[in-house]
Amino acid sequence: MARIDPLHATAGTARFSGIPAGPGIGVGPVARMAAPPSLPVERPAVDDPGHEAARARRALEEVGDLLDRQAGGLEGEAAAVLDAQALMARDPELARRVGERTGKGDSAAWAVHAACGTYQESLLAAGGRPADRAEDLAHVRDRAVALLLDRPMPEPPDPGVPHVLVADDLAPADMVRLDPRRVLGVVTRHGGPTGHTVILARALGIPAVVGCEGAEGLVDGTRVAVDGDEGTVLVEPDEEFVDRVRRRAEDTRALLAGSTGPGRTADEVAIPLLLNVGEGDPREAGAHDSEGVGLLRTEFLFLDRTEPPSIGEQTDVYTALFEEFAGRVVTVRTLDAGSDTPLAFAPTGQEANPALGVRGFRTSRLHPELLTAQLAAIAAASGRSSARVRVMAPMVSTPDEAAAFVALAREAGLSDAGVMIEVPGAALLADRLLPLVDFVSIGTNDLAQYTMGVDRTLGALPDLLDPWQPALLRLVGTVGEAGERAGRPVGVCGEAASDPLLALVLVGLGATSLSMSASASAAVRHALGLHTRKRCRELAEAALAAPDAAQAREAARAAAEPGVLG
Ligand code: PEP
Ligand code: MG
Repeated sequence: MARIDPLHATAGTARFSGIPAGPGIGVGPVARMAAPPSLPVERPAVDDPGHEAARARRALEEVGDLLDRQAGGLEGEAAAVLDAQALMARDPELARRVGERTGKGDSAAWAVHAACGTYQESLLAAGGRPADRAEDLAHVRDRAVALLLDRPMPEPPDPGVPHVLVADDLAPADMVRLDPRRVLGVVTRHGGPTGHTVILARALGIPAVVGCEGAEGLVDGTRVAVDGDEGTVLVEPDEEFVDRVRRRAEDTRALLAGSTGPGRTADEVAIPLLLNVGEGDPREAGAHDSEGVGLLRTEFLFLDRTEPPSIGEQTDVYTALFEEFAGRVVTVRTLDAGSDTPLAFAPTGQEANPALGVRGFRTSRLHPELLTAQLAAIAAASGRSSARVRVMAPMVSTPDEAAAFVALAREAGLSDAGVMIEVPGAALLADRLLPLVDFVSIGTNDLAQYTMGVDRTLGALPDLLDPWQPALLRLVGTVGEAGERAGRPVGVCGEAASDPLLALVLVGLGATSLSMSASASAAVRHALGLHTRKRCRELAEAALAAPDAAQAREAARAAAEPGVLG
């Protein structure tokens, strides 16, 4: 089988390291995104409050118009995000609060900043859909304040040429607007391996490195090479290196074009390669070369609503998807509400730490009807299709919860029922939990958050959230061993499965299927084909024995065939 050798930069080239976050290599000039403007330390004196009120109003109007113009050139999710922000800029309640502040003597920029701050607090306290709007409000605030202080707009720049976007951090709202034909790579100073930036970069197929210390020093126009497989950024790489990058990219494309069909190790052990699917075109998902869906995130059906979707509506959506996967497996995850997905119709009460609160399967303690209705819809859609439908519950913490979910699924007429392993408690008791379910799927994004005690939405501690952390790998191994003993499949559907080298380690730890974003599957399939299962176990042992995440990755790389991308 053809192999791709790793690239080595010419000695002396400046190089920064971060977390590999989007596949491939991009070379181009840096275009920096301006940081959100901060207010000057000194409050300016105001002579004419009426004038300040008018300036603030005009700035908000201008932001609304700007967002309208940007939304006009886009479609789908990207346009919807900008439309929502434009609405926020014109929100009468915001205008009222700004007027109140200018009336009290604030200058326009201070008034907008302060009004957005108090409004954000009220929205967050209300929870549910209003809380989601708090983020839109932050975008509006940053843009309006930038206008009023005559600072650069804190949004992805358009230098007019293909470029590498460098930012402190990138919000999902900025990320969804990136055009992969113009953005050759993304580098962020902050951001963890399971954040939205990473999930979206993978979905868009943009090479990306996050949590990259040193990125703050990169200036506009500097040529850099972003290696999203290795997690490195090379500054001013020489021509010979760039040529090698281009040749490698072409070889990779050719190689991966030949990487098709079912996932198998070199010794023909079947490791089904499945897709992570959310909102989107079911036909597009179905057309992708995969053995089915390993994670259908169903939250999209429930967002932005005051009432939950009816059983009929849900049934239609599931049926449309199942049709595209006739004969293949589709794993539907029941609603993962709560935490960063609060829903107006499923209030969880005041929670100081929502990620540790009523979320996932726990929501059914307060709102059991949501889960029973969803299971009924999945069962009805399953009855209309030849897809091999499975259901699983998110955030299950104990064997009892697992058994309760399986019982509910069976009552609804669903015979293949499992749970996600995302909480260390569930992983540690995997030997008791596995015999109670038909399968498990490990959500490494949340399992990393709860194992390492780091909020996965926090950009500041990316090294601790690195899925190569030996503690996380050990828990995966605990589940893998329990699965083997109980004769139950153990899938992995967190972002970890998208990293070809880590995918090998996961198989070595006992994963029997891997689920990932569509752009990752060819490289993972290729890596699997180069290694026997025994070799995967050796990689896993090497990674487990390492003292930290970076050395675990290095140890696995040293033990792997050279042709592994990533
Ligand atoms: C996970 O936690 O790894 C997972 C796949 O679920 P989500 O990212 O949707 O929380
Ligand atoms: Mg999860």
